[in-house]
Amino acid sequence: MENKKIVLLGSTGSIGTQTLEVVENYSEYLSVVALCAGSNVALMEKQIRKFKPLLAVMWSEEAAKDLKEKVSDLPVKILSGMDGLIEAATMAEADIVLTAVVGMIGIRPTIAAIEAGKDIALANKETLVCAGHIIMPLAAEKGVRILPVDSEHSAIFQSLHGEKGNKISKILLTASGGPFRNMTTEQLRTKTVEDALKHPNWSMGRKITIDSASLVNKGLEVMEAGWLFDVPVSKIEVVVHPQSILHSAVEFEDGAVIGQMGVPDMKLPIQYALFYPNRLPMTGNKLDLFAVKDMTFEKPDPEVFRGLALALRAAAEGGSMPTVFNAANELAVSRFLDKKIGFLDIYEIIEKAMDAHTLIANPTVEQILEAEREVSEVC
Ligand code: NDP
Ligand code: MG
Repeated sequence: MENKKIVLLGSTGSIGTQTLEVVENYSEYLSVVALCAGSNVALMEKQIRKFKPLLAVMWSEEAAKDLKEKVSDLPVKILSGMDGLIEAATMAEADIVLTAVVGMIGIRPTIAAIEAGKDIALANKETLVCAGHIIMPLAAEKGVRILPVDSEHSAIFQSLHGEKGNKISKILLTASGGPFRNMTTEQLRTKTVEDALKHPNWSMGRKITIDSASLVNKGLEVMEAGWLFDVPVSKIEVVVHPQSILHSAVEFEDGAVIGQMGVPDMKLPIQYALFYPNRLPMTGNKLDLFAVKDMTFEKPDPEVFRGLALALRAAAEGGSMPTVFNAANELAVSRFLDKKIGFLDIYEIIEKAMDAHTLIANPTVEQILEAEREVSEVC
């Protein structure tokens, strides 16, 4: 295998740091040419010293200045802002861009990377939710691969291996149910940030952990799966599976259900996306079905977890509505994390933004970003 050169957007986050663990484990096959983050200069400095990228980008200019001083003994180039992210995403030296920034900030660099012919390993689902109608045809036109990193989508992708030409009758998208599984609306009303951050099975960034508690994450994932696998949302069924062992499955027309199982560890889907179609050894625990004992499945309750119902409505309306759903959620989650609103207000804010929006059928990138601005004015 040739050495694959990676641009990592969001290197200091949960997916970013786990990606760098994979790179470290497979340094003979993988290297990093650019690292990008928001404001965590201290961790970025450590990552630069260890992985020696050609370019590092901090979102804020101030952080970039600070970083530049800290690594002035190294030949690394330092940039900031959207220009920096786009320069990283389109670097001539790169083979693949792993997008692990959080939120729709990932849209423009992802599109730029595809235009430059880079394969995409996609963790940043918000980008596909808002701009799937632009990204998927562009990727097809440029002949680049969109390789899912999200565990459910990686499972679906793995289940489709060798099935080219066979029709999918249904996608079974599994969900852990999060920390508030089986709770009532009344119970959700008083949940705090600390309660919502206690995810039972996965350790992830703060935003996606809140999204998992509200089931907004699953709603985003339904839309993500629709774009990645070209399947109508009506054929995607959310299945609550609290043990998080079956990471998702596909039902074919003959009734066969093919899924992927394993212990919950994001390094597997990250590694699979980076080495696709090869499977390489991985350290860590392997699945022990005798220890798991029971695997259970439940229907989600969209009347309590309204994030899921609102996502399905956004998907059905299409066009700019998924952007409004997502942008309102990003805004609401950041307010919830700042303890300015209650847990159920997340749903209220999303619904208010969606009700106020005048749909654009096929929005351009500018219209998507404009819809995001509109949400911040309405909510
Ligand atoms: P984190 O919050 O842990 O990390 C986000 C990363 O993005 C950090 O490196 C952060 O930098 C960086 N970042 C934030 N804003 C900017 C910006 N404006 N410009 C450049 N970099 C920025 O998130 P996760 O790793 O949990 O999630 C990343 C994405 O992957 C999300 O879209 C999430 O939905 C998806 N995902 C995550 C999973 C997980 O297990 N964590 C599972 C499946 C999908 P800094 O640290 O400096 O703020
Ligand atoms: Mg997921």
